[in-house]
Amino acid sequence: MTSLDDGFTAHFGRRPTIRVQAPGRVNLIGEHTDYNEGLVLPVAISRYVRIAAAPNGTDHIRLRSFAYSGVADLRADAPAEASVPAWARYPQGVAVTLSRRGVRLAGVDALIDSDLPIGSGLSSSAALEVAASLVFEQAAGSHLSPRDRAMLCHEAEVEFVGVPCGIMDQFAVSLCRRGRALFLDCRSLETHHLPLPAGLAIAVCDTGVRRTVGDSAYAARRRECEDALAWLAVRGRHASALRDVTLDDMRLIEEMPDPLPRRVRHVVTENARVIETARAVEGGEVTRLRDIFLASHDSLRDDYEVSTPELDAMVEAALASPGAVAARMTGAGFGGAVVTLVHRDRQSEFLEAVAGGYRRRTDREGAFFASEATEGSP
Ligand code: ADP
Ligand code: MG
Repeated sequence: MTSLDDGFTAHFGRRPTIRVQAPGRVNLIGEHTDYNEGLVLPVAISRYVRIAAAPNGTDHIRLRSFAYSGVADLRADAPAEASVPAWARYPQGVAVTLSRRGVRLAGVDALIDSDLPIGSGLSSSAALEVAASLVFEQAAGSHLSPRDRAMLCHEAEVEFVGVPCGIMDQFAVSLCRRGRALFLDCRSLETHHLPLPAGLAIAVCDTGVRRTVGDSAYAARRRECEDALAWLAVRGRHASALRDVTLDDMRLIEEMPDPLPRRVRHVVTENARVIETARAVEGGEVTRLRDIFLASHDSLRDDYEVSTPELDAMVEAALASPGAVAARMTGAGFGGAVVTLVHRDRQSEFLEAVAGGYRRRTDREGAFFASEATEGSP
């Protein structure tokens, strides 16, 4: 029996009959491009949200988490009505969205466990949503495709929880494949699975700094992208998203009031870097990745202004450590983690060195782990 099963039994007085898991994800490149209908390249990581559950024969859905106190108690026939602890808004949103799509929810007890850092830009929210959907589907005897599940969970986070996130997280958690990165076009929702070079592993280097101004700054960046589109439209250059702006438009863009030209430049050049990365990965040109990742980090720091001194120090520490191939901040920024590609046979050496390097530069303890690119949720 696992400790999750034990925990379930301690809370609910019987054995679980449903066990599901959903991985976190880290974005290799393509930052702040998703809501501009651009390109991203995430991989699923071997850290998971796991849920043990069992039908309870009532019309109540009861949710607990090891990570938080409190119980969420939803009525299966009216899941939107309950007032729940803040953490439970995510699974509640999934229940509400499933029931809006005509799934008749069944009474179930569920306990959530996770070894995925929360709020570090590794998509614990999407992993929780996808895992919760799997539980609700199984209890109700229905089954969505991974793609439909991703769309539904995204809708739950945007419409119900009220987080204006792009589609990448739920797609990565649901659709990634072992040993591959997911090339995702956030406009067409076309996907390609790109095999990663065999000798490379992924190291996640968490600064230990949680986003504080993150939510309002994220909203501000999204607004600036809208403002840039409106500014272009007034001058006769109509584009439905920054995805459609090209370097040929840059002369016009440079006339915008600061900081808009820098925001646009980031999005335009970042989309190009996703394509460059995909080509380098496909062609096995691993050494090119260092410069592409650095250019992405610099652009996020200087043009998009979402990095922090800790993220900058982490990139420096990572690149100075043995085995590092490429490093950049990942996720929305204002705290969170750096993603590093490392030679697999040097990953232990790397992890030890980067921890020391980060401590020396910042006086802070980060959190570090290596991961394979793993399989998305079934
Ligand atoms: P990220 O997705 O980058 O980890 P978010 O702020 O988007 O950060 O999502 C974090 C939120 O997801 C938490 O505040 C909590 O509400 C929910 N969450 C994540 N993991 C768990 C968990 N193990 N148990 C309960 N809620 C969780
Ligand atoms: Mg999230």
